[in-house]
Amino acid sequence: TGNSMTIRAAVTREKGGAFQLEDVTLRAPREDEVLVRIVATGMCHTDLIVRDQLYPVPLPAVLGHEGAGVIEAVGPAVHSLKVGDHVVLSYAHCGDCTPCDAGHASYCNEFFARNFSGAGPDGEQAIRDDNDQPVRDHFFGQSSFATYALSRENNAIRVSKDAPLERLGPLGCGIQTGAGAVINTLRVAPGSRFCAFGAGAVGLSAVMAARIAGATTIIAVDMIESRLDLALELGATHVINAGKESVVERVREIAGGGVNFALESTGRPEVLRQGIDALGGLGVLGVVGAPALGTEAAFDVNDLLLGGKSIRGIVEGDSVARRFIPQLVELHLQGRFPFDRLVKFYDFADIEQAARDSEAGVTLKPVLRLS
Ligand code: NAD
Ligand code: ZN
Repeated sequence: TGNSMTIRAAVTREKGGAFQLEDVTLRAPREDEVLVRIVATGMCHTDLIVRDQLYPVPLPAVLGHEGAGVIEAVGPAVHSLKVGDHVVLSYAHCGDCTPCDAGHASYCNEFFARNFSGAGPDGEQAIRDDNDQPVRDHFFGQSSFATYALSRENNAIRVSKDAPLERLGPLGCGIQTGAGAVINTLRVAPGSRFCAFGAGAVGLSAVMAARIAGATTIIAVDMIESRLDLALELGATHVINAGKESVVERVREIAGGGVNFALESTGRPEVLRQGIDALGGLGVLGVVGAPALGTEAAFDVNDLLLGGKSIRGIVEGDSVARRFIPQLVELHLQGRFPFDRLVKFYDFADIEQAARDSEAGVTLKPVLRLS
């Protein structure tokens, strides 16, 4: 395992500031940690809301949480992974609490601390800048906007060497969130009616999953026409432009009274309200879009009550990553889950361009190439 090494990382030094490429040092893996050479990493909307401090991860920090790469070294307690393995990095969890024991690690009692505190479980940073100051890290148990990352064994998911590693990183967060919400949480049923509110990377992953699950009415709602066009190619049977049409009315019209399942991925309280209103009787709305901490939303209580409707918060698509990510890879290799249609590659040096393109709605899922 050896000593510290110099790596290249994108450091976010201030609220809303640029991702600055810097040479920093990363210590060697300990105990159950693995050192991963990052081949490519996705950029998710969550990286941007943290940069903008809607989620208060302390700065300066190395963000990035959709890393894919190759194991270069393992700590002494690692037994299921070895040097050379291809891995996708997913969210951190303790592995020891009641939700983790129950197979619901995305609701780990320590989820926020382990993914958003910018420190390891013992409060430590593994990254130091060239003034020997600690940089907040361990973001989603990885901080993968860097040429190398430390992860724990339990969130480094081995994948087949037959799969195209450089595009797999987003399976660790955005893609598994949309697909898992449909398959694991909502359990969208064959012949059912589903609506995705928001057709970004998460919403379109939900659309592809709804097709796999056998939904026969699949509606995608967004304001960006190109995303609605892509939704139709990926399995949507209907699309609604929220900027031009009356959304709830249209969904109820298309779905004969309302949908059975819906997913809110815009992070906007007014869209969450539309999602509830567009459900039919006994319908379930999954909520994955993340607004600023403290945001509240309104809905009609009697509509919920008399309709027997449910609202369900969902983290990371309820994914048991070690099982679900290889399943998504398998579906992808069979051509049934073409999430590569969402991906656009960028050189690491162009990380700022990637962020701008993502925010402008030009790129659905930027993936940064590191090595
Ligand atoms: P994205 O920006 O690609 O997608 C959001 C989409 O919503 C965009 O296409 C946008 O045009 C659309 N939109 C905005 N306003 C709208 C409106 N009024 N009506 C309809 N559509 C509208 O982001 P993403 O990467 O797909 O992530 C989506 C959300 O999910 C973000 O809030 C992100 O932070 C969150 N997220 C949550 C989890 C989780 O575990 N819960 C995991 C990953 C991402
Ligand atoms: Zn994410």
